This record gives sequence, C-alpha cells and structure tokens, in this order.
Amino acid sequence: PDELARAESLISITPDFPQPGILFRDIAPVLSDADALHAVTQALAAPFEHGFDLVAGVEARGFLLAGAVATATGTGLLPIRKAGKVPRPDASVDYALEYGIATIEASGDLTGRRVLLVDDVLATGGTLRAAISLVEQLGGTVAGVAVVLELAELGGRDAVPEAHAVFAA
Ligand code: IMP
Repeated sequence: PDELARAESLISITPDFPQPGILFRDIAPVLSDADALHAVTQALAAPFEHGFDLVAGVEARGFLLAGAVATATGTGLLPIRKAGKVPRPDASVDYALEYGIATIEASGDLTGRRVLLVDDVLATGGTLRAAISLVEQLGGTVAGVAVVLELAELGGRDAVPEAHAVFAA
C-alpha cells in the first residue's frame, strides 16, 4: 500500500495536452521506477488471480502494462492494434472518439481463453468497450478489465462498470 501510494504520486499531470482543455495524466514515470512498476503490475492483476490465461492491451500504452502483467502472472499476451497494423485481422471494431471514429483489430482464435484487459487510463470507456467487443468477436471470454487510473468525471464507469481501477482521480 505504501508502495502504491508512492506509485500514484509519480503520475504526472500536464494541462492542455494534447489539446487545450485536456488535463493529461502520464504513467511513464511509474513505468521507469522499478518498485512502482512492480506494485502497479501486482495491483492490476490481484483481483483476478488465476482467473485469466491471456492479457490484452490496446496500442500503445496498454501494450506496456499487458506485457508486464503477462510476465508477472505467467500468462500470454494479446496485442490489440490500431487499424492497418495487423496483416490478417480476425476481428475489427469501430468506436467513437471525441472527433471521428477509430478502429482496433486483432488476430487469433480465443475460443476457451479467459482474457484480462488492461490499459493505463479509463476516460470515457470507449476504448475498453471496443476492446471487450473485440475479444468476444475472437471467441474469448473477458475475465476482467483493469486500469491504472480512472478519471471518474469522464463517466467511463458507466461504459465499463466491471472495471477495476488501481487509482482514481
Ligand atoms: P477512453 O476511450 O475515452 O476511455 O480513453 C481512454 C484511452 O485514451 C486510453 O487508451 C488512454 O490511453 C487514453 N487517454 C485518455 N485520457 C488520457 C490521459 O489523461 N492520459 C493518458 N491517456 C489518456
């Protein structure tokens, strides 16, 4: 818990990035601190211990956390990519952004796989909702959803009520 509190204090906050009016939280300083990375990795997976055999993260920051959690828990890793990066996608999901739409894709047969979805920040929840749908399209079961930081006022919990957040702001 002490280590987690210290990890939380490392998250940097930058006003007006990447656009005016956005208060941007960056977990990069958590990743580069060995003890903080360990504590956050454990905290992401803890509620779901032994309940999953694959960890999925959405490009790009979700990859970093998914890799850490998969290695720490002895599970596999599923990269969920932005459109146009997967040579032969087996599933593709469009979702709304503030302006326009985005598409995520992945390949593989997830029949019988229990997937833990991880990301750095839960904002509106659109990205994780799309990722849940993608895993299900591939035949997998979503065993859990975990984020480092939930931005409560953006309403992501309404979109992803099952989300486990290590920190909330
Ligand atoms: P959502 O789809 O609105 O929940 O947005 C979540 C996605 O946008 C995640 O993949 C985050 O990486 C990214 N995101 C939104 N707000 C922030 C932020 O303040 N810091 C870092 N990433 C953010």
